[in-house]
Formats: sequence, structure tokens, C-alpha cells
Amino acid sequence: MQDTFGHSAAANSGSSHTVTGVKATSPGTSNNASSPSDSGNNSSSDANSGSSAADPAEPAGAQTEFQQFMHDSAASRTTVEKGGISYVTNATSPLVLVNKKRELASDYVPDDLIKAPVEFSFSGDSPKQQMRKVAAEALGKLFEGAKKDGIELKAVSGYRSYPSQKSIFNAYAKTHGEEEANTFSAHPGQSEHQTGLAMDVSSASVHYGLEESYGETKEGKWLKAHAADYGFIIRYEKGKETETGYMYEPWHVRYVGVFVAKDVKKLGLTLEAYLARF
Ligand SMILES: [Zn+2]
Repeated sequence: MQDTFGHSAAANSGSSHTVTGVKATSPGTSNNASSPSDSGNNSSSDANSGSSAADPAEPAGAQTEFQQFMHDSAASRTTVEKGGISYVTNATSPLVLVNKKRELASDYVPDDLIKAPVEFSFSGDSPKQQMRKVAAEALGKLFEGAKKDGIELKAVSGYRSYPSQKSIFNAYAKTHGEEEANTFSAHPGQSEHQTGLAMDVSSASVHYGLEESYGETKEGKWLKAHAADYGFIIRYEKGKETETGYMYEPWHVRYVGVFVAKDVKKLGLTLEAYLARF
């Protein structure tokens, strides 16, 4: 029953995500030059305007395919209504948009979860060390880059299954009331952690806590400055609570691929606003 909610549509994005290169590429290296995702920097913001000429360095086919991928990933084209709930139809896409208005099916489990090749803030094995392969590998590169700059990062929490999110939310709702819990925790199905594309990151400077002050630490600032180079965005920015539905979370990074991450950063948009443009 994995495909109850229109996952057939995900097949599109599955095939195009290699094309768009939302696959991890190491930043600032020459292999970016050959990646269709990263070569069109200057045309990024008009990726959807039919009038703008394709990047001359880019084969026309690739540009068209990229535009098609963004078109198919648009917020408006990637949900289906079922029993009063909007379910996302592109759960397996690196551009899947999950929030309080757009849910993952309760039985959605990514099929390519691996343990992220990074250091964790805790010892022992846990499913929360996992991310989808493309995101896990990119996170490994991000952490390596941080280390080179003398920045110590540790991963705190990545993949979270629907049942696990459910028990977390219920526990918070019990102590804080459901309404308050909803501002800082996600209802099951509404957590980006279920996509396998998100990781909470922290550092010794805040005792590996997940708190707002992390944004003011040198590690939090490094993360904000460099995440996009590795394909990640700071998903819940300060001042964007009404768009994202969540409080500022300087520790939560979401993989979207290098091209989109850089574009989102450059434009200063939330993922919600960005994916509404296509
Ligand atoms: Zn998180």
C-alpha cells in the first residue's frame, strides 16, 4: 500500500533527479561544471520564463528537461486530496514539499536510507542516523567542508518514521497541549524528517542542543553561509514562520540539491515560496 497516494507521479521526479543533478556534487570543484544543475547559475531565476534563452553552454535538451522537472515539482502540481488531507504526490523527489498543509502517507518509507557518513552527537545505532543516500552523501561533504574550516558539527537527528514522529508528537501534546506542540513539533506525516532529506545539526558550543541561539554561534553561522554549496537549505528561517508554519530552526538542514539550494539562498525564499514560482 506504499503507493496509495498517487506515488505514480513520483516516477517522473525519480528519473529526472539525476538529470537535474539534485544529486550531490561537491561544491567548488570542477565536476560542478559538467553538472546540468550547476551550470545555469545565471539563468536560475528565470528557469521558468519561456522567453529567456537557454544557457548557451547548455544543450537545449538538458535545459528543457530541467525546466520540466521544476514545472513538475511545483507546489501546485504535487498534491492530491484524500479525506480532507492533501498528500504529496512526489514523496521520492528531492524537491518534495512537506509541511502542515502537505502530508506524506503514513506508510511512506524512503527505499534508499543509509547511515550518514558523519559524526553524531550520541553513541550507538539509531534510525535517526539515516538519510536518503543522496542527502547522506551530501551531508558527509558538508561536514568535511566544515572540518576544513575548523568548524565542528555533529548530526543529531535525521530520518524519522511516521510511527516514531507520532509518538514524539503525542508526548509533546501531552505535556504542552496540542496547539503549542504544533508550533515546535510536527504532526505525523507533516515532518520533513520522514522524507529522509533532513538532518538536525548542532555543535559543542550549545551542548548539541537544538535551540535558536545556535544561529548566533560560529558553527550556526558557518552552516547558514555554506549549506547551499553542498545542496542544503536552512529550512525554517527567522521571520518566515507564517510561510513555513514552524519556528526558526537554525539547526535543521534540508537537502534540495546544489542548484536549488543556491537559488533559494540567493533569492532569500522559503521552500514554500520558491516552489510556488514554477
Ligand atoms: Zn529538524
